[in-house]
This record gives sequence, structure tokens and C-alpha cells, in this order.
Amino acid sequence: MFFSIPRFVVGSLILVSITQPSFSKAHPSSNKRLFVTMGSDLSEKVFTNKSQKVLESTNGLSVVEIEVDDMGNISHEAHEGFHRCGGFMVHESYEKALEEVQNDSSRQFAKNVSFADYSINQGSQVNARIGEAREIRIRKMIQKLSSFKNRYFESETGLESQEYIFNEWKSIGSGRSDIEVKKFKHNSWPQDTIIAVMRGSSDEKIVIGGHADSIAGWWNRSRATAPGADDNASGIATITETFRVLVESGYRPEKTLVFAAYAAEEVGLRGSKEMAESFKKNNDTVLGVLQLDMTNYNGSDWDIALVSDFTNEEQNKFLGSLIDTYLPQLKWGYDRCGYACSDHASWTGQGFPASAPFEARKSKMNPHIHTGRDTLSQSGDNANHALKFVKLALAYVIELDN
Ligand SMILES: [Zn+2]
Repeated sequence: MFFSIPRFVVGSLILVSITQPSFSKAHPSSNKRLFVTMGSDLSEKVFTNKSQKVLESTNGLSVVEIEVDDMGNISHEAHEGFHRCGGFMVHESYEKALEEVQNDSSRQFAKNVSFADYSINQGSQVNARIGEAREIRIRKMIQKLSSFKNRYFESETGLESQEYIFNEWKSIGSGRSDIEVKKFKHNSWPQDTIIAVMRGSSDEKIVIGGHADSIAGWWNRSRATAPGADDNASGIATITETFRVLVESGYRPEKTLVFAAYAAEEVGLRGSKEMAESFKKNNDTVLGVLQLDMTNYNGSDWDIALVSDFTNEEQNKFLGSLIDTYLPQLKWGYDRCGYACSDHASWTGQGFPASAPFEARKSKMNPHIHTGRDTLSQSGDNANHALKFVKLALAYVIELDN
């Protein structure tokens, strides 16, 4: 249906776009073209006119050429239609995107190979640490992070929120010479990924990460209200409390622990992808990656849903055993999430073993994400659910480390 826009409305629309002080000015115009990979199920839904956009489809994945403005459409469909937080991966060239969809072998490798010793024998240490985790600290971190207007990868508040995480982790790690907190810089956008490294006697790495950015709306996202209390302030608060409990207990790891707050997940898993690629390039040995994206909405009969696709089977079984051993009161199961569902896909894509324990069955996940309604009140104004994930993360780190 066509309707005429009253004159004064036209004026204010133009006015708004001219006066916007946002970082996107530093980046080429909105019709910049990008090469992305996504599940063919999603591309068929978004790009009905196949000839126009989909350049290649193989292994159930598609290479699509898009304009920046298409991102709203894609993430909306990925989220509403397929319950995926991310849903697509951005690549710097067509060749790189093609490599991703054709490179099924490293994904299969990351999926099927056992990368570590998954024995469980650190009972007293794990139970002691689990007892030290505090809901109130997780809740406070979620409240602080969701108080930023948004944590979008190209907004001023998206830089301020990363600075806050950087300073928080710095203060937790201060006084420990084996801990370094740093910013992983990304060349093509302003938001950094924040990393805390707890060096062990071995250089083998265990990565505990989640994305820190948030998103809402389709237009002018740099100024949108996107509290992202569950998606994904809850994951960052879960990682922070895990890091804090280990530091405050004087825990000294054997392996090297890496805690990460990724930038730019909502716009194509961009931060985690660059980080995983750098680990691959450095030939880092990664024993395991734990992805914490949305841990605080207790929407289903399961307390924890282990994502079964684009993750490592052996490590998933290990996580299931850790729940049965240390958190027997919790109900858990396996659920699928689809390609590029969240940052674990970046690590799997580089051949590293990753797992993603999730807050609920996919069909029952938090319906308020990617909107201004994703607030802590949707979780009863507490972090009781996220506390379960801190306990699981502590068990995972200590058992994998020993
Ligand atoms: Zn998310």
C-alpha cells in the first residue's frame, strides 16, 4: 500500500540523518558491499530473489553479497525465524567467504576430534570455587552493562562499555604478574575486543568468551536503545565472575587461561572471527573454547541446553558430565542452533574445539533480545540463572586445566 508522507515528517527525517554524530561517518556509506556466509536455510528466507544475491551454496551454507543496510533484515530473520543470536559471518573478500563454506573439513575436524583429557578428578577444588561464586556480583555487572544506551560496535556508548569491561578486568587482575588485560584491536571498526590472559606454566590455551556488543532496531542502531541485559551482558557477567573467583582464590593455572569479551558479534561474528584467525595464524594450541552467550533467561524446563551443531562432540559430552557431577540438580539436554549462531562458530571455523551452553531450549529462549525490552526485569531482576553457568564454567576450567 502506498501512502504520502506529510511534508513536516520528510523534513525531520532528513534533519535527523544530517545531525547524527556517530562513528559510521568514519566508515564507508551504508551501501558498502559485504560478503557474508550464512545457513542456506536463512539465505533462502531472506533473499527470495536468489539470482540477485546468493553467489554460492554448498554444504548447507551460502555465500551472499549484501549491502550494509541488508544486515537489519538478515539479523531480524535470523533471530525471529531461526532463533540465532548472530546468524551470519562477515568476510573481507569473496574468496575468504568461499573458503569458509567449502572448508567443511576443518569444521568436521573441530566437531569430531577429541582435543583434551576429559577426566573429572578435581572435586575438592571445584566444589570450593563453586561455593565462592556470588549472584549479587553477576547481577551488578548486568545492571551496569545494560545501563549503557547500547553497546553497538560502532557507537560511542559501545566504546565506553568496552572501556568499562577493560577497567573492571584490570582491577580484578591487578596485583597478579601472571595476568595481563589487553585490547585486541580491529582495523575496520572502532570497538575493541577485551582479553584477560592468566598465564600458566604451559602455553596450551583454554578460552572462555562471549560477545559484549548489543543491538536493537533496524535503523540508526548507533543511537538505538539496546540494553542487552541477557544478550549478552549476562554472558560477560558470567565470564567476569568466573575470572574473579579464580583470581580471588589465588588459583594458579597450569594451562594459559584466556577470557574474552568479543566485539561486533551481532553484525557477523566479526570480533571473535578475527581473534580465532589470529590464534590459528600463531599456531596456538587451544584445548577448548567455552562460549557464553545468553545465560540468564530461564525460559524452559532445561536449565542448560548444550548446542550440538558447529561445536565439539567430545567436549559437549564432557560438559554434560560436569553438570551431572557438580550440578546434579540441574536439567540439561542438547539442542541445535544453526550456522553462525554465535561466536563459537568462529572458533569451529578455524578448527578449534568449541562448546556453547545456552540458557534454554532454543524455542524457549528470551524473546526480548535485540529490542529495548531486553532488560534484567525479564529475568526477575536477579542473576540466579546465570549463576548456574558460572559454576559450570569454573568446573570446566579447573578440570580441563588439570
Ligand atoms: Zn548474543
